[in-house]
Amino acid sequence: MSIPTSFIDQLLDQTDIVDVVSRRIPVNKKGSNFWCQCPFHDDSNPSMAVNQEKQFFYCFVCQESGNAIHFIRRYENLEFVDAIETLASSAGMTVPYENNRLEKSKPSGLVEKAVKFYQANLNEKIAPKAVQYLKDRKITGATAKKFNIGYAQDKWDGLLNHLGSDTPSKELDESGLFSKKDDRFYDRFRGRVIFPIRNIKGDFIAMGGRIIDEGEPKYLNSPETSFFNKSNELFGLYEVKELEKNIASLIVVEGYMDVIGLYEHGIKNAVATLGTAVTPNHVSKIMRYTNKIFFAFDGDLAGGKAAWKAVENTFPIIREDMNVHFVFFEEGHDPDSFINEFGLKAFQKLLDESISLSSYFLSKVKEFNLETLEGRAQAAAFAIPIINKINNTVIKEVYASEVSKLCGMDIKSMDAPSSPSKRDDSERLIRSSSNTPVRVKAVINIFSALLAFPTIAQESIFDELKDDLKFSFLFVILDLYRQTPDIKPSRVIESLESEQIKGYFSEAVVAGLELSEKNALTLVNDCMDILLKNQKDREQTLKDKYNVRSITPAERRDLQQIILKKQEITDDDRNWLKKLSSKQD
Ligand SMILES: [Zn+2]
Repeated sequence: MSIPTSFIDQLLDQTDIVDVVSRRIPVNKKGSNFWCQCPFHDDSNPSMAVNQEKQFFYCFVCQESGNAIHFIRRYENLEFVDAIETLASSAGMTVPYENNRLEKSKPSGLVEKAVKFYQANLNEKIAPKAVQYLKDRKITGATAKKFNIGYAQDKWDGLLNHLGSDTPSKELDESGLFSKKDDRFYDRFRGRVIFPIRNIKGDFIAMGGRIIDEGEPKYLNSPETSFFNKSNELFGLYEVKELEKNIASLIVVEGYMDVIGLYEHGIKNAVATLGTAVTPNHVSKIMRYTNKIFFAFDGDLAGGKAAWKAVENTFPIIREDMNVHFVFFEEGHDPDSFINEFGLKAFQKLLDESISLSSYFLSKVKEFNLETLEGRAQAAAFAIPIINKINNTVIKEVYASEVSKLCGMDIKSMDAPSSPSKRDDSERLIRSSSNTPVRVKAVINIFSALLAFPTIAQESIFDELKDDLKFSFLFVILDLYRQTPDIKPSRVIESLESEQIKGYFSEAVVAGLELSEKNALTLVNDCMDILLKNQKDREQTLKDKYNVRSITPAERRDLQQIILKKQEITDDDRNWLKKLSSKQD
């Protein structure tokens, strides 16, 4: 499956990078840019510029730069497809995956074959106990089909034989479906009911197995593979998306039997983590599809711990428009057992009466003895590091002020220093770029002129640098502008190889110089003079070195090149060429 580039263009058109960034980090408008703290390097200064017109961000310190897709990928640590899904869902667009016939042998292909094989095994004849197990859990055939539930026979080579001996061992190895001993493969899943796990595109990527007879472990999951990262995936998310295009809310539970049990009773919007605590990746993935989340955990100690982990991992990415709630069950109950015993209405009542994220957090703070000074100090010490995880300034402020009230002290004063000095810093950063070497400055200015007036690329003035390999990057850029005058800056950057040049170009993009066409041309002429004069200086330096016999072979060749590239070669130049090519010195 792949995503058509026309869709990606359309998506970028309908996405505002300022919106994307500001939903995650506070930004301030200053001049033609929005400024924020860069999330990609450790800094308390606003070193990142976000340019709305160019739909582009650039960090003046770590030089990270790019478009909205790149920002999301880096910020949320996402694969390309997931980043597209994120932006598409905020833009209310559906990603049109196209079947790519070339992609037949995708690495997860074996998992799909295994799912079909196991599904076919789930019948009275082959697997009476597994069928009985599902009946006991009140899972109907329709639900089993919806979730592609299957059965792996208690054999060492059931799947192995089914796949056939011509399956490359590399594929067997990478599928996660087999264990390997003495160079031989064995079915990993044996005597288990199989719960296939799909990614958001619907590909089968892994599976979980519940043992039927006695044996350990009770639940077994696929190991992590190149296509299955359990801290990213949520069981059931694809199935929810299949039913509901705009998902009103999602219920996060701990196990796949909870998802399936709830589904059977009509709660069709549950997803499960796969044997891990809720990770920040999970939360950001969920937030792509809905802004209303219920965390529903078991009523035991482990459930309480899982809930707290969810709080900690939600805080860094929480936004004002998010609605996060917690549901706790009585000791001994999980979502599946609860709905089986008390039914749909009772479960819905639990959702209605769920506790909000803020109330849950504050209830934890209130567990300290706030009557005593020591208790209040402990409560503040507990709360401050967690509140400091919140990136959204408004929400952070609200939490800090609530906890300040409870603890009878101003906890903001213990916070890291923030806003007042920010503006000066962005100015300082812009100024600091004026300390860069003149040659670099000249290059950046040429970029600025090109960005303002792409037709400048047609000028012949650049030709004087044409044969100089050091400036080949300039001609890559000029060619792009000559071919596509309205090319987007992010496309230009993608075409550049050197990180340094990417940085210079990005700097020009966010600098956003306002120039008239005439001034732009003058600027280019001046900058070309600087670059060419630099060449002349270089020529003189090398000649001086030659005269004192300290020239290296590389410098000798460089000097030859400089002379050879001149438009007109004088007698003096000829003499120099003769000297440089003779071997006696
Ligand atoms: Zn940075």
